[in-house]
Amino acid sequence: MNERDLKGYIRTVADFPSPGIQFRDITSLLEAPAAFAATCAALSTHAVQFAPRQLIAIDSRGFVFASPMALEAGLPLYLARKSGKLPGSVRSETYELEYGEATLELQSQSSLQGRIVIVDDLIATGGTVMACVRLLQRYWGFCPEQILVLAVIDLPDLGGSRRLREAGCSVQTLMSFEGH
Ligand code: AMP
Repeated sequence: MNERDLKGYIRTVADFPSPGIQFRDITSLLEAPAAFAATCAALSTHAVQFAPRQLIAIDSRGFVFASPMALEAGLPLYLARKSGKLPGSVRSETYELEYGEATLELQSQSSLQGRIVIVDDLIATGGTVMACVRLLQRYWGFCPEQILVLAVIDLPDLGGSRRLREAGCSVQTLMSFEGH
């Protein structure tokens, strides 16, 4: 199954979670085992080419894709979670949402070094992934060239993938949808 075929497995739900939003739903892809396997294989190929030391999965749909990738590649997996979910000492970064703000956290003792791949299901404005990039830069001394952002879906009209590239990160996605 090629990357173009995979796009047919994404269900679009209009006006969710609010009017005007075209929600790109990955649950329909997860329900098709061959498509889910092909998606993880394609993401793993991109990840392995970058030769990372570890993967970071973004809460919560990033977990679904990053877990089989970490097992396949034999790489350590770290979870970047929304505030209050991770036990122990954490490093936090707050970012803007359309309405209000959110906080992303990594555990302070995480031994992150070398090259790294950040995995999520979708890049919209890029705010969530950018918060993860800032955590890596501020607390672990990463430079953007050490970071690959991998996602199943890009929404290029929202500018997130462009902003991440302008910040110096590598970005790879398997498919894109025009509009919001
Ligand atoms: P952003 O921080 O704007 O790049 O938003 C990325 C996160 O929000 C991803 O983890 C997605 O799960 C979710 N998201 C944003 N917009 C959509 C959309 N149109 N369809 C599905 N998920 C979305």
